[in-house]
Amino acid sequence: MKIAIFPGSFDPITRGHENIALKAATMFDTLYVAIGENLEKKSMFSSNQRLTWLQKTFVNYPNIQCITYTGLTIDFCKKNNINFIIRGLRTTNDFENELAIAHANKQLYPTIETVFLICDIPYLHISSSIVREIIKNKGNVRNFIPKRIEI
Ligand code: ADP
Repeated sequence: MKIAIFPGSFDPITRGHENIALKAATMFDTLYVAIGENLEKKSMFSSNQRLTWLQKTFVNYPNIQCITYTGLTIDFCKKNNINFIIRGLRTTNDFENELAIAHANKQLYPTIETVFLICDIPYLHISSSIVREIIKNKGNVRNFIPKRIEI
């Protein structure tokens, strides 16, 4: 069984996240799309709300499980037999940050592999922070978030 986790804040989930998760779901037997509850990071939406949106987005994909977890991602991986971490890349900036995290995770848990996926071109510019900015200013985010959800 190949089991992977796609961890993130998903504050809120975007079409970029959805694109990456759907690609990963074709590559692994089980994919956890997982909200890491980070006490230091202030989120715009509650973890319950974010989880509900994840569940709605992936309701038709039986090998995707939406969950929340606390603590280090690798500790969750150890407990749940997960050997692959999925992260999405948009820019070289993402790459630089993600490379350091991937190496740190590898040092802490040598059997973990981080798999980087790139999103399709229409989603390259989409980020949760842009979506939050649009929401704060009462703009329309319909084309930035998955079709199955409404904000
Ligand atoms: P985090 O706070 O862990 O960065 P995010 O929810 O912002 O959580 O992002 C989760 C993952 O999704 C990260 O790997 C991020 O690079 C990736 N991601 C977000 N938006 C996109 C996008 N449009 N295309 C590709 N990857 C994306």
